[in-house]
Amino acid sequence: MRETWHDRFAETPDVLKSAWRQQTVVQVLDLEIGGDDFIAMAGPCSVETEFQLMATANHVRRGGARILRGGVFKPRSSPYSFQGLGLDGLKMLARARNESGLAIVTEAMSEDDVPVVAEYADILQIGTRNMENYSLLEAAARSGRPVLLKRGMAATIADLLRSAQCILDNGNPNVILCERGIRTFETAMRNTFDAAAIALLKQISHLPVIADPSHAAGHRDLVPALARIAVAAGADGLLVEVHPNPDKAWSDGEQSLNFAGFDELMDGIEPYLALRRHGSSLREAAIVRPMEAVG
Ligand code: PEP
Ligand code: MN
Repeated sequence: MRETWHDRFAETPDVLKSAWRQQTVVQVLDLEIGGDDFIAMAGPCSVETEFQLMATANHVRRGGARILRGGVFKPRSSPYSFQGLGLDGLKMLARARNESGLAIVTEAMSEDDVPVVAEYADILQIGTRNMENYSLLEAAARSGRPVLLKRGMAATIADLLRSAQCILDNGNPNVILCERGIRTFETAMRNTFDAAAIALLKQISHLPVIADPSHAAGHRDLVPALARIAVAAGADGLLVEVHPNPDKAWSDGEQSLNFAGFDELMDGIEPYLALRRHGSSLREAAIVRPMEAVG
């Protein structure tokens, strides 16, 4: 790694790579995030009904997702919008895990929510509006669950790394970074997807990086393209909103894929994943050959 990045991010030494190949692998049930597998996390923005959740869980599992997402404590842009099902939603997620075998990621919005979310979920999500809520970060860190940390919508990469460092400092090494788009002067999309942040984070940090093309795009038509870009940029996985009937979704319907759309997204990333596998096997061969020559 170039020395200059270490200088520029000197405040957050533990989240930076100290060696070229250093990589944190976050273990969740039988899954490894940041390892060889590309991990798709998919599901509705909000948990709404048992039918909606189970239908989505079954579909995304068949389509290759390994983790089910679904919000039950919802940070909404408007205080008059649906705020989530709370504990009833957590219980539905736990049933969905039992039936589908998928691990669960869901957001904890306040430190008060952390114990109950940690009881039901496999990964705690920290939302964009809370990236710098340090008491929440500390509580999430101490829960012992892996933490999926979303980049604040007006946060720099250094800000994101500082928040990740805070979780590490509180004794939890299992942090997954998430690029979900940032606010810029551009208003055509809900947010501006910062693919360069993914590439940079993969270079400088050993933490797994996943991409959320749904919140970045704000519109479902753009989500598969951003997913392909995320794979090409080196992301370790995706977080995607999927709903059986997006036009009837209680939140973020415009950016949610229906089941066919999710299948298309997964088919569309496959060639990009194959390219990555090809690239890394070439690298492995290049590394192994000189050693064989020595032996
Ligand atoms: C979500 O994942 O549904 C969500 C609210 O995300 P963000 O915090 O990125 O807006
Ligand atoms: Mn959402």
